[in-house]
Amino acid sequence: MTITEKYIQLILPYLSGADGGEVETFTTPEGLIGYRFPCPLCSGFVRTEELRTRQLASLTPYKGSFDYLFRCRRSGSKECRGGAKNFHNFLCFYNPNLFRQYQKELLPRLLTQRGDVQSVSLVRGELVLNQFSNQTIEQSEPSQKSY
Ligand SMILES: [Zn+2]
Repeated sequence: MTITEKYIQLILPYLSGADGGEVETFTTPEGLIGYRFPCPLCSGFVRTEELRTRQLASLTPYKGSFDYLFRCRRSGSKECRGGAKNFHNFLCFYNPNLFRQYQKELLPRLLTQRGDVQSVSLVRGELVLNQFSNQTIEQSEPSQKSY
């Protein structure tokens, strides 16, 4: 299980919401498991319980990465508007405390997995990987042949 999957498992029991909604799994065309649930970021602004429990939000894994994309089809709050978000951006809005824990656990892993990453920083909620600059290694002059 990846760190991201571990955190998804942690929040899944709460994503059904307080109004009797449900979390449903689905399979992507690539055979990966995603989740559909009532949007925790905008369901609170919806008046009727029936609309609040509609599974308009989803976390979809994408192939070739260990990340998930969060989407809300209602886009009823500024946090869930603006298209798909990476899991860490969603978690940042959904549960800031858990997000900080996730970062702490994820960053050392990111750094060790990628040898080209010098440091990781957070810019406006986005994880930014700072790569080593391409330094040219000066080659020493070949030593002169001595006879
Ligand atoms: Zn939403």
